[in-house]
Amino acid sequence: MRALVISDKVEPILYGPSINDRVGPVDLILSCGDLPFYYIEYIVSMVNRPAYYVMGNHGREFEYQSGKGDAWNQQTAPLGAMNLHTRTTNAGGLLLAGLEGSIRYNDSSEAQYTDFEMQMNILKLLPGLAYNRLRYGRWLDVLIAHSPPFGIHDKPDRAHTGFRSFLTFMDYFKPRYLLHGHIHLYRNNETTQTKYCETEVINVYPFKILDLHP
Ligand SMILES: [Zn+2]
Repeated sequence: MRALVISDKVEPILYGPSINDRVGPVDLILSCGDLPFYYIEYIVSMVNRPAYYVMGNHGREFEYQSGKGDAWNQQTAPLGAMNLHTRTTNAGGLLLAGLEGSIRYNDSSEAQYTDFEMQMNILKLLPGLAYNRLRYGRWLDVLIAHSPPFGIHDKPDRAHTGFRSFLTFMDYFKPRYLLHGHIHLYRNNETTQTKYCETEVINVYPFKILDLHP
């Protein structure tokens, strides 16, 4: 399946009327977090394919849109896309799961988790993963995350340290892909794809078009 995967930065190439010429035919849209809802919604409406997302650590802010009369409506999710945090789904034969947020680095109420809390999030995925294993013979194909795993594409500062629990997750459930954002790239020579165990770990910042196979 050909997937348009986006993360962290509004990319002018995608946020414009020529998006379909630039991207070509895709089967699904995946978002790895820290993106404004209007951007996800624009891409969903233009590409018109199933879309799945997780929030980044900055994803808890409300977005406001004008409502009826003088009222302002709070919008807590992008329209037309499914939040995959602690959920699994079958997207046309591709088994997806999602884990939002980053490592906890301050007291803000944003989506930040200690490694222990992320393990608890992973536990919530277990029923769906076990169902996949029984039904399809594998736990999952793609983990959509915001943060990278510990030691893979992450950075030494606290806010950009990856999750150790993601390493255990890959050891045990062996997804073919772990897609993440959160680590912004400023040079051309930074590593964005690393094989760990049986998983291709890919930093998709700011967007990538990937052929994802079950
Ligand atoms: Zn982030």
